[in-house]
Order: sequence, then C-alpha cells, then structure tokens
Amino acid sequence: MINPPDKNPKNKLDKISVHLEYACFICGIILSSSKTCINHVEAIHRYLIPFRPAGRRPENSNFSYVRDPNGPWTIEEYACPSCWYHSPSDDLEALNEHIREEHNPTRIMKEEEYEEEDVEMDESDYVQEITTKLDELKSIFEEVFS
Ligand SMILES: [Zn+2]
Ligand SMILES: [Zn+2]
Repeated sequence: MINPPDKNPKNKLDKISVHLEYACFICGIILSSSKTCINHVEAIHRYLIPFRPAGRRPENSNFSYVRDPNGPWTIEEYACPSCWYHSPSDDLEALNEHIREEHNPTRIMKEEEYEEEDVEMDESDYVQEITTKLDELKSIFEEVFS
C-alpha cells in the first residue's frame, strides 16, 4: 500500500523558536515586560501608548515563543508592548515605525506647556462676554437714537 501524500506539509516545518525582548521604541533600552516598557515610555519620553488586550500571546504558525532568556531559542526579536507584533532585534526602526503607525503615541504635555497654552473660555465666560457686548451695543443705540 502507498502512503497518501501529506495533505498539510506546513505542519512538518519546524517553527523558529524566538525569545522576545521589550525594547523601548525610542531609546532602545531593554525592559523586562510590556508593562515596564509602557511605563518607561511614559515616564522618560512622555508618550502614552496603549496596553495590550488581556490574554495570552496567540499561537503563530512560524514561531514558537520561549520565555526563558537563557534559552534554548534560535532568534531574539523586539516585541511591541501594545500588541503581539515583533520585529527583528537589529531593527529598532521597524518597531518604532510600527508603534507610530499602529498605536499613535500621544504626547503628554508638561505643566509649563499647559500654562503657555491659551486658556479656553468655558461657556459662562462666553455668556458673560456676549452680555457685556450687548450692553455696549444697547448704550450705543440709545445714544444714537435718543
Ligand atoms: Zn526609552
Ligand atoms: Zn503593536
């Protein structure tokens, strides 16, 4: 009897074992977890990036993920702290581009920057201003038509 051909040859391929590092996408420093990475970005660089959705990293048909930094693993890559993306660990620019495009880092303004900003008037200020203007108009009309 002849063996039937393997219907799913992909299953026979070995996955690449990869160890993920959490590199800051701005300065490249390695942090111990996605949370410390996000906190570092916030505290040092003053940018907010989102936390990952809760849950485990999904299975990937190309990679198996190794938690132990001592291995054994074949390659090491930079992991995005905000999603499950990872990029080659010699390519911080790829990680940086991914985060800027996918997660829209938000600049946190320093307090002195807030002070320089024009203070927006709230509604009651507007009402007050309009009332004052109307009073002025009224007195002008009264002067003209009296
Ligand atoms: Zn940094
Ligand atoms: Zn991401």
